[in-house]
Amino acid sequence: MTSFDLVVRGAYVLIGDNWRAAEIGITDGVIAAITAGPLEGAEVITLADDEVLVPGIVDTHVHVNEPGRTEWEGFASATRAAAAGGVTTIIDMPLNSIPATTTVEALDVKRAVAAEKAMVNVGFWGGAVPENLGTLRELHDAGVFGFKAFLAPSGVDEFGHLDAEQLERALDEIAAFDGLLIVHAEDPGVLEAHANDGGVDYHRFVESRPDAAETTAIERVIAVVRRTGARAHILHLSSAAALPALRAARAEGLKITVETCPHYLTISEEQIGDGATQFKCCPPIRDDANRDALWQALVDGDIDIVVTDHSPSTAELKYAHGGDFGLAWGGIAGLQTGLAAVWTEAARREIPLERVLGWMSSATARFAGLDTKGRIAVGADADLVVLAPDATFTVEATQLQHKNPVSAYDGRELRGVVRRTLLAGRTVDIAPGAAPTGSLLSAARP
Ligand SMILES: [Zn+2]
Repeated sequence: MTSFDLVVRGAYVLIGDNWRAAEIGITDGVIAAITAGPLEGAEVITLADDEVLVPGIVDTHVHVNEPGRTEWEGFASATRAAAAGGVTTIIDMPLNSIPATTTVEALDVKRAVAAEKAMVNVGFWGGAVPENLGTLRELHDAGVFGFKAFLAPSGVDEFGHLDAEQLERALDEIAAFDGLLIVHAEDPGVLEAHANDGGVDYHRFVESRPDAAETTAIERVIAVVRRTGARAHILHLSSAAALPALRAARAEGLKITVETCPHYLTISEEQIGDGATQFKCCPPIRDDANRDALWQALVDGDIDIVVTDHSPSTAELKYAHGGDFGLAWGGIAGLQTGLAAVWTEAARREIPLERVLGWMSSATARFAGLDTKGRIAVGADADLVVLAPDATFTVEATQLQHKNPVSAYDGRELRGVVRRTLLAGRTVDIAPGAAPTGSLLSAARP
């Protein structure tokens, strides 16, 4: 009888969209057998009665910030947070590190740093900025998963945004090699027209970044996609007001995908008090009715994926100037809490766990073209999570693994405890100083 490196046995294993009792045989980091068993393994993990086995989360929107702003977040701490939260693959955004990932040299720098520290798999997005238009093919060939662009100021000086003409040029260029543009869609004109003097009142912050900032920018992206035939992806959709235009564009056959984030699905404006800048992000968290509409769009398939947009800074910047929403850093650290937060809210809405994993694992893996991730199947990588879906825990910001102890979920009780994260069939050890276990990923190029 064949003996596997590892056998995982459980009464509830998510295979496709179905829960089955199964034994998973793993050899050389890959799932080699799925049967009713019994299988023989050098190591055997038997799930407890309250545990299920699911594919690891693939989070395609993470800002690691190393090198350059490592005091905000680094590869060691971010990937430990990932593993602790059931995330086995992250794709790193091209900003807020220095250098930004806008050249092949910068990509090499980021890869070298990540290779020494990553506890989970790491891939990279490139950036499309005014200075590197015309050279995107080089980064594409070097294995970035696509290109991020801003249509309004990004928040850091070294990563400029594209104006209307530059957006058109970028999409023309990217269409020529069938690449992907991922867009931070807020319109600079609308933002400027609604700018205010900040302060501690959250509602005033929302007024400074209204729905129209998103709908105007998204309509512009749709128009350029229609003209160029390029593929584009709308990052962190916050405003449900943009959904009708997106629905129509997709029905028309335009290649546009859409993501939203745990904080837009689990928190609403009504819950955010004066000066609570741990909740500041751009675009902003909107009201409860908007949140319901985002959930409906997910259920209906109008939003494709849920990713964290993990974007921390130091606590000093996050709480700058006594909680002034105009001045605090905009970004939410959600890697470790994303799965539990979304699952907690989904359960409240009677949406089953397999749908949550669809949005956060299988669909994100498909979106990134990672064929061997996001599913439990023979031939897939054994990136797996042992989850106790009905167990609960209370988030304590100081106990989370990411670098700075700030969390929008601090004090919340969440459902879904990650008991073990396996990467290529090996349990990830998140103790400080443990050897890196992650691999660097490049986008598949035919
Ligand atoms: Zn982001």
